[in-house]
Amino acid sequence: MLPCRLTAPRKVAPGCSGHRAGVTQPVDLDVPLAPDDLSTPHDGTGEQVAVHDLADLAPPARPGRRWLPKRVVVTPAALDHPHGLRIIERVEALGIDVERLRANRLTGVRGADERQTYALAKATLAIVVSPPSRRTLQPIPPSADWRVDLAEGCPAHCQYCYLAGSLSGPPVTRVYADLDAILEGLAPYVGTATRRPEEGTTFEASCYTDPLALEHITGSWSRAVEHFALWEADVQLRFTTKYDDVGSLVDLPHAGRTRVRFSLNALPVTERFEGGTSRLEDRLSALRRLALAGYPVGMTLAPLMPMEGWQQHYGHLLDLVAATVDGVPGLDLTAECITHRFTPGSKEVLLGWYPRTKLEMDEQARTEKRTKFGSVKYVYPKDVMAELRGWFDRELAARLPQCRVLYWT
Ligand code: SF4
Repeated sequence: MLPCRLTAPRKVAPGCSGHRAGVTQPVDLDVPLAPDDLSTPHDGTGEQVAVHDLADLAPPARPGRRWLPKRVVVTPAALDHPHGLRIIERVEALGIDVERLRANRLTGVRGADERQTYALAKATLAIVVSPPSRRTLQPIPPSADWRVDLAEGCPAHCQYCYLAGSLSGPPVTRVYADLDAILEGLAPYVGTATRRPEEGTTFEASCYTDPLALEHITGSWSRAVEHFALWEADVQLRFTTKYDDVGSLVDLPHAGRTRVRFSLNALPVTERFEGGTSRLEDRLSALRRLALAGYPVGMTLAPLMPMEGWQQHYGHLLDLVAATVDGVPGLDLTAECITHRFTPGSKEVLLGWYPRTKLEMDEQARTEKRTKFGSVKYVYPKDVMAELRGWFDRELAARLPQCRVLYWT
């Protein structure tokens, strides 16, 4: 998932009480998993967090095994959409039964305790119609002009997950059956580019999910790539991923209108904190395959962390990327640099999920920043930021001179 802003509130389903809910309540699939309004401040609740160590539920980063949900459900409304039926066909072809729900409420995502509830939710996929609020696009600086959601939720277990502080209930992954309407609904936004006008109007499709974790089940992002390729307008689709499953994208007609970025980090981060994702080397191979197929590609360098020996670890990463793109004709490579930050709310949730995590979330070692909406986030102190930024500016230019840095945050 793209680490977008960490300022969002935890909106809760009626009758639920945030991420601790869902233990006793059904999941209302009409309520988005993540908050609607990214501009509203998010705060920690200050309540005692239930500890339900999830570390052993999270497999390590591993070679390209595709995620298979244990349970798949479809809402009645999703059955009215051709893409919903296409997803069902794919799921059944994978040998998984699809439960037809009578309403948009999902029961049975309830274990004996919260830990089991979380595990059940993470193994569940719901085919739903997108909530109406998702059809009015929100700006998503600095990545793109607009955020478009084709799904919400993700099967990975990153210990710094940016979604953590914002969940409305158990993290059941939702994939949207009304894809065709979602894509058609983008037309009115053409010509509104403010971010990087030379790229046309840009649409970010990985804000609350990881596309390539789900593509083999949905086919949604392939269809989006084709839609953008055929669209006679100055537009760009963008998404970022920690997975390597690019087989269905490689031969697509893409017209250079989709930029796929791979979320990359130093090995101590990918190996310790990114459970259930593809290994770094596999992401890099996937990046090369797409670059050779003529896609604009990118690196989402996130979350950057000044761990011990960071210059050496990140230097190794940049050298690996340089080797990956070596000899790619017409390479179009960008970098987006995002330092680690957390909010009181995301820390609270993540420590509940991964109490033994080695992830540094020490307010004393950070600088408190208030967003323009008044919420608090903790970022690295100014001198650390300057050192990181200086190093990356210099080393990216030296080791990957063909790379364009889009932003730093
Ligand atoms: S678990 Fe990881 S890949 Fe999935 S949304 Fe969170 S940060 Fe992104």
